[in-house]
Amino acid sequence: MSKAVRTRNIGIPGIKPPERTCEDPRCPYHGTLSVRGKILEGTVVSTKMKSTATILHEYIVYVKKYERYERRRRKIHAHLPSCLDVKVGDKVVIGECRPLAKTVSFVVLGKPIS
Ligand SMILES: [Zn+2]
Repeated sequence: MSKAVRTRNIGIPGIKPPERTCEDPRCPYHGTLSVRGKILEGTVVSTKMKSTATILHEYIVYVKKYERYERRRRKIHAHLPSCLDVKVGDKVVIGECRPLAKTVSFVVLGKPIS
């Protein structure tokens, strides 16, 4: 039995959709996971967890007292669907989704179109 898995349009522009399909129900393209909330960009720093990637997100915050910006960085755990080819060092776009685990409430959407 082969049910054709369609790649859904997740409604977020500027991302390369995956070329493969997958059976992951927690995939925004081939499953039923909805992406809503924040969309962030970051660099993959680890893919050692099972179907989860660690993303380093760097951003700047304005400090009014010194009239300057400070750089901040944050590590975010994001679910990595099996249809995406992502290596350590890649720039990726992640989207907020429902909590998938204690520390996972983002999902990797793919690489940005540059
Ligand atoms: Zn998928």
